[in-house]
Amino acid sequence: MLDGRVLTPRWHGRRAHLGSKENLPVHGIVLGDQMAVADEPARELSAREKTVLGHGANEVVMSLAGELRVFPSAAAAWQERLITAEQLPGPEVQRSVAKQKPSKAWTTGKKSVLFIRVDFSDREGNPINDKAAKFEMDRTDEFLRDNSYGKLSIETTIVPGAMRMPEPVEWYQSDPEERRYDLLVSARDAARKLDAKYNYRDYDFYIVAFTTIFEGWAGRAYVNNTGLWINGGFSNDTIQHELGHNLGLYHANAWVPSQDDNPIGPGEHDEYGERTITWATTRRTGTLIFTSKTTSRGFRTRM
Ligand SMILES: [Zn+2]
Repeated sequence: MLDGRVLTPRWHGRRAHLGSKENLPVHGIVLGDQMAVADEPARELSAREKTVLGHGANEVVMSLAGELRVFPSAAAAWQERLITAEQLPGPEVQRSVAKQKPSKAWTTGKKSVLFIRVDFSDREGNPINDKAAKFEMDRTDEFLRDNSYGKLSIETTIVPGAMRMPEPVEWYQSDPEERRYDLLVSARDAARKLDAKYNYRDYDFYIVAFTTIFEGWAGRAYVNNTGLWINGGFSNDTIQHELGHNLGLYHANAWVPSQDDNPIGPGEHDEYGERTITWATTRRTGTLIFTSKTTSRGFRTRM
């Protein structure tokens, strides 16, 4: 599933002969309701993505199911090890070579968050006023404190006013998957230019918020890294979900039985299936455990 849609995977090459695998990391190209799945488990980030994340042009940054790893030069050897691992018999893909748990320092303590609002020449106006932004961030803080039993809290600095983006809405909409990265970069630059105290590098996390200009999602975020888009999803439900990704959490998944209602029989994962809890992840939770408390708010956002 991707963004709530069921995709038909098209396999080719080596992976066409893999058999059933659980937790197989995939990337590829989506056309309509089909996905051409790449033969390699990990994807190399483009130059533009690297710039956004502050990586040098010479570094090789690989994404394995959204988890990033940086290599000083080529990542071919690592990719080979991943391929070897998934070729092993059995449904469970051994991903220990790629496991990157968030550190305790990353997920606990008091975190500073920079909240940057942006607007466009053809869509003028602050997307969310100061009072509302503060309200949602206060509730996000409350949620994080509550669910971490006081181990994690946030302090938000709201950049005054809206930063005008260099391009009109249409420009970003014409290539959302690439140009959303430009939004992060332009927003950060504009905030820093307004006042040096709004330099995103001095904060643990930063949020770039704008009115809904992209279809299909309310917020997106890097997993285990900073960088968070709010695409009209100004409620704390969305913000805390996306911050969870920054903190290192993946989606909860629901197990959908394919025969009767037997939960221990055959079935499949639905990444967005668990809608009563914010993440409820049972894997790679790091030091933050969000599984024990539930909320009726659910989640509606996607990474
Ligand atoms: Zn998500």
